[in-house]
Amino acid sequence: MDKPEATVPRLESETLALSPCFTPSPARQLDGRCAVVTGGSRGIGRAIALGLAQAGADVAILYAGNTERAESACAEAAAYGIRAQAYQCDVADFTAVQTVVAQVVADFPHVDILVNNAGVIRDSLLLRLTEADFDAVVDVSLKGTFNVTRHLLRTLLRSPHGRIINIASVSGLTGTAGQANYAAAKAGVIGLTKSVAREVAGRGVTCNVIAPGYIDTDMTRGLNPAVKDKLAAAIPLGYAGTADDIAHAVVFLASDLARYITGEVLRVDGGMAM
Ligand code: NDP
Repeated sequence: MDKPEATVPRLESETLALSPCFTPSPARQLDGRCAVVTGGSRGIGRAIALGLAQAGADVAILYAGNTERAESACAEAAAYGIRAQAYQCDVADFTAVQTVVAQVVADFPHVDILVNNAGVIRDSLLLRLTEADFDAVVDVSLKGTFNVTRHLLRTLLRSPHGRIINIASVSGLTGTAGQANYAAAKAGVIGLTKSVAREVAGRGVTCNVIAPGYIDTDMTRGLNPAVKDKLAAAIPLGYAGTADDIAHAVVFLASDLARYITGEVLRVDGGMAM
């Protein structure tokens, strides 16, 4: 005899009815807002910039050196009828960030959303990890997040919809062999996020962190196939995420629907680190 199929109980339609205080989000829920996205030229940052643009926000993209990709991201974002501008800047450089933030603030009338996404990897087991590779990763991910937040915070505090969204990693939650520098930097981003969330909450600004799992981008495309298979096997949903999966979470956290969420770590990882 065939085994009966496992059934998932269906919710009654009454249960699905929206509560009277729930306002469905409009398609362009970020109309009139302006976002700064670091590392917006490629991968996750590019998808975030496009997601925010699609939701109606102007976007200022910071990038390290890939001018062609940054300009094409801006052109794609501007097709949503918003203003998009790219700025070359090493987020690890405190003074360079100060200069570029002053330029962004001069170019856009207000800034409401900051997404600290720029990051690099220099993987190596600790016995072989060089000081230069440790510093490079911490300087871009952790110090870069501090630098941009520090210089933009006064402007964000003036926004009635201030949002800071930092991109960490599940490595910062669980640790990963071969990524002591990266995991340390990302764990630092989580601590920084919670501290900033407490400091700015009184001004109505939220500060949250997204911890992506294994996402298909330039950063992970170079991994050897055996490592990729091992990563995929560790994901309950069974496959790598896309940059858009992270962008959707960012748009939600940037929206009014997330106004009561702050200091939160949102894993977007297919269940990898639960
Ligand atoms: P990519 O390597 O695809 O893109 C990195 C982006 O960061 C590029 O736009 C790059 O600019 C920019 N960038 C790098 N260094 C600097 C710097 N010093 N100053 C300014 N911008 C810089 O990375 P991903 O899209 O994969 O990763 C984005 C974020 O998500 C990172 O913080 C990463 O740690 C995190 N993450 C990624 C995961 C993944 O599986 N991919 C998993 C977990 C977290 P340019 O194009 O000019 O070089």
